[in-house]
Amino acid sequence: MKQNRRQFLRSSAALATLALTTPSFPAMTSVKKPAKISPDKMKLSWTPYDLQLNHTFTISGFSRTTTPVVLAKIEYDGLEGYGEASLPPYLGETQASVIDFLKKVDLSVFTPSGHIEEIMSYLDSIAEGNTAAKAAVDIALHDLVGKIEGAPWYKIWGLDKYNVPDTTFTIGIDNDEVVREKIREALGRFNILKVKVGGPDDKRMIEAIRSVTGLPLAVDANQGWKDRHEALDMIFWMKEKGVVMVEQPMPKQDLDNIARLTEESPLPVFADESVQRLSDVERLKGVFSGINIKLMKCTGMHEAWKMRGLAYSLGMKVMMGCMTETSCAISAASQLYAGMDFADLDGALLIGNDCFEGATLENGKIIAPDRPGIGVKLSRDIRFSREG
Ligand code: MG
Repeated sequence: MKQNRRQFLRSSAALATLALTTPSFPAMTSVKKPAKISPDKMKLSWTPYDLQLNHTFTISGFSRTTTPVVLAKIEYDGLEGYGEASLPPYLGETQASVIDFLKKVDLSVFTPSGHIEEIMSYLDSIAEGNTAAKAAVDIALHDLVGKIEGAPWYKIWGLDKYNVPDTTFTIGIDNDEVVREKIREALGRFNILKVKVGGPDDKRMIEAIRSVTGLPLAVDANQGWKDRHEALDMIFWMKEKGVVMVEQPMPKQDLDNIARLTEESPLPVFADESVQRLSDVERLKGVFSGINIKLMKCTGMHEAWKMRGLAYSLGMKVMMGCMTETSCAISAASQLYAGMDFADLDGALLIGNDCFEGATLENGKIIAPDRPGIGVKLSRDIRFSREG
C-alpha cells in the first residue's frame, strides 16, 4: 500500500517532468536552444546540536544541563527553510532516531507550495511516532513555503501577532535561595511565572516565590498528584496564593478523576501529557478546560493549527507550549498562538547557545518576527548534511 502510493507519486512526478520537458514547438536551429526546464527538487539535510541550559533543569526528581536537538534544512529553488526537533530524554526520541527517520524521508517527488497536507500524510506513512522528527520537517517546510509566498505564517493565517498572551517563565524545583535568585532574574521581563509542582514541596515552593513577588503563577504538576481530593484542596490553596491555571494535575490516563477535578476546580485545568495529536482532542472535551499544544508532540505547525481550530470549536481553551528549543521552533510556535489563553514559550530563553535569531521577548510576550516563513536567521555557522 505504502509502496504503491510512493510509486504513484513518483510516476505522477515523472509524467509532470515529461510534460514540462517535452517541447511544444518545432526545433529551429537558428533559434537559441531553450533552457532546459528542470523543476527543482526539495533537498532535506540536518545536523545534531546540543542546547546548553542556563540553569540545571529539574522536574520530578531528575536533572539535566543539556537538551539534544536536531536542526533540519530544506533547500528548494534557491530558498532555505529551517526546522528543529527538540528531544528531551523523557519523550523517547533521540538524535539517532530522528536522523534515522530523516534518512527515510524523500521529498524529491513533492513540490512544497500547496502540498503541506500531503507531505505530512506521507511522513505519517513512513512510521508511527517520531513526532519531533516530523515536526522538524514540518517547520522547515512552513519556513520554505512562507518564503515562497513572501509572508510570515501569522499573516497567511490572518492573525494579529501582538494579540498574544504573556509567556510564562519556568522556575524549576530547587532550594529556596536558588528559587528566589531565579525569580529576581525574571522580574521586569515576565508578567507570569510557571512553577513545576506535584511533589511534597509544593507549598514551600509557592511560599518561596511569594516572598519575592506577587506575579500571577501557572502551575504544572506533570501528573504528580495522585489523589483527586488532595489535588482539589491544593488547587483551592493555590488559588488563594495567586495561581491562575493548572497543567496536567493527575496521571494522563486517569481521565475520570481529572474530569471530576476539573468540574470542581476554581482554576482552569489544561491537558499536557494527556494530549499529543489532533486525534486526542475530542475525547478530552469535558475532561479538561483546555489543551497545551506543543509542536514537538503534534508533528508541527500544520497539525497544531488544526488542533487549535478543533479545540475552539469544542469550546475548549488553548495554550501554546514548548520544549527547551532554539529560536527556530519557538518562532514557529509564535506564528500560530494569537488569541490563545496562555503561552509557555520560554524555551529559547533558557539556553546559552541559541543558533537562530527569530521571535523576541517584548513586554513579557513572545512576538513573531516580520520576515517571511517562520522568520528565522541562522546566527551561528551551522553545517547541514545528509550524514549521521
Ligand atoms: Mg507540562
